[in-house]
Amino acid sequence: MAQLTALISVSDKTGIVEFAQALHALNVRLLSTGGTAKLLADAGLPVTEVAQHTGFPEMLDGRVKTLHPKIHGGLLARRDLPEHVSAIQQHGIDTIDILAVNLYPFEATVAKPGCTLEDAIENIDIGGPAMVRSAAKNWKDVTVLTDASQYAQVLEELKAHGKTSDKTRFAASVAAFNRIAQYDAAISNYLSARLDDGSLAEFPAQLNSSFIKVQDLRYGENSHQSAALYRDLYPAPGSLVTGKQLQGKELSYNNIADADAAWECVKSFDVPACVIIKHANPCGVAVAANAAEAYAKAFKTDPTSAFGGIIAFNREVDGAAAQLVAKQFVEVLMAPSFSAEAREIFASKVNVRLLQIELPAAGGKTPFEQGRNAQDVKRVGSGLLVQTADNHFLTKADLKVVTSLQPSAQQLDDLMFAWTVAQYVKSNAIVFCGGGMTLGVGAGQMSRIDSARIASIKAENAGLTLQGSAVASDAFFPFRDGLDVLADAGASCVIQPGGSMRDEEVIAAANERGIAMVFTGVRHFRH
Ligand code: 5GP
Repeated sequence: MAQLTALISVSDKTGIVEFAQALHALNVRLLSTGGTAKLLADAGLPVTEVAQHTGFPEMLDGRVKTLHPKIHGGLLARRDLPEHVSAIQQHGIDTIDILAVNLYPFEATVAKPGCTLEDAIENIDIGGPAMVRSAAKNWKDVTVLTDASQYAQVLEELKAHGKTSDKTRFAASVAAFNRIAQYDAAISNYLSARLDDGSLAEFPAQLNSSFIKVQDLRYGENSHQSAALYRDLYPAPGSLVTGKQLQGKELSYNNIADADAAWECVKSFDVPACVIIKHANPCGVAVAANAAEAYAKAFKTDPTSAFGGIIAFNREVDGAAAQLVAKQFVEVLMAPSFSAEAREIFASKVNVRLLQIELPAAGGKTPFEQGRNAQDVKRVGSGLLVQTADNHFLTKADLKVVTSLQPSAQQLDDLMFAWTVAQYVKSNAIVFCGGGMTLGVGAGQMSRIDSARIASIKAENAGLTLQGSAVASDAFFPFRDGLDVLADAGASCVIQPGGSMRDEEVIAAANERGIAMVFTGVRHFRH
């Protein structure tokens, strides 16, 4: 059998001497780059330096070592094509059958504290990935090894059969391309972060292929979980991660998750609004003439739950609003701005986290322009669920009145408000509203009727009347019983998607109970 040639060029020299010794024992010819060649020669192995092989010295501080037709021709030539074989013969190029390469330690270099841009750049391997790609592309003829853990199996196959199996070479090729992809992603992420100075915020969302770590968090959802916050390379204007923390303790994982829910909800109103979130669900939402009034109304929905809440405003927090909010225990307070008086009021409350976030400019057409994610991502066992985000916004023109009773103009406003809130409540969501505020929120129950019952119990606990209230249901009523609970509680109008097999039964119930009902044709599941 013709003698095989192996090219070895590794930064991480783990196990490489033993591997080369075993190859030598199998009569494999050894080619190698400077540092690796020296190590092998010192171990007493006969090794030809690549520079000697190509007749070209390593140059430019090692930037050019193996970028030579004698190397890439030897890796890329197809042994089954006579034209390829004669071309390399004509140019005196020997085939290379085994390539063992691991790359300059870019990831480890940039992970070191104080790494400079120059250090990072010097650790971008050029020739290594080029060879790995050549060998991986020509996997039918070349075995490419990019990790020391692969050496043993290849030696075993060479010993047993004098060559590696197709299966092994293909698997090694896939592993090699994966490694290159990972390496390039590390370079792209690092350099993107270095480029980032905020001036690129107007870049389109499509460029957001990489994430940048904002900060490590003390822990995750629970104290035994570690966590970090990452952001898009180009965050959407007015999105949570563009916020600036003005004071207070470090944001926790749960703070950030809740703050996002609060901010997304409050952003959907164009009049002054306040949203209070607990455990990712709104426990009070209201619109009013100003921030203070909006807060006072939102708080009334569920004062018990509002304790330790995350509160968001879509208008400046002025002195009046700050005075009211300061009366309660608040974890995070978010707004587009805080007046000097408000800052003063919170200055003594050192634990309160104040987060200033600009609102996205009005009139944005794309989710990016509206400060929203275009996509939602959720991890499932060893997989990823990806969907376009729930960015559907209803207008009154989309509504279909299905009952004999028509909703009044006031009821329509209340229904639209209730529907907006329901979009941000975990399913099954039932939201009683009236007068521009939530009156009772039923969230996250496994049955719609339980959410309806809970919402009305909560209103009762808060001393609020549901007489004449407007109710939103994030999805249709499968039976009339849910609607009956709303009617019993005092609801006068209902907004829901419709689309149930028993819509007729539910519409009949609404007519019977004197309720005006509209269908939206869309639902807002939020799990
Ligand atoms: P050595 O320690 O053998 O001198 O260098 C090994 C390293 O050089 C390996 O990590 C390999 O990927 C890298 N390498 C091989 N050829 C080239 C080249 O032409 N340019 C650059 N920049 N790196 C190369």
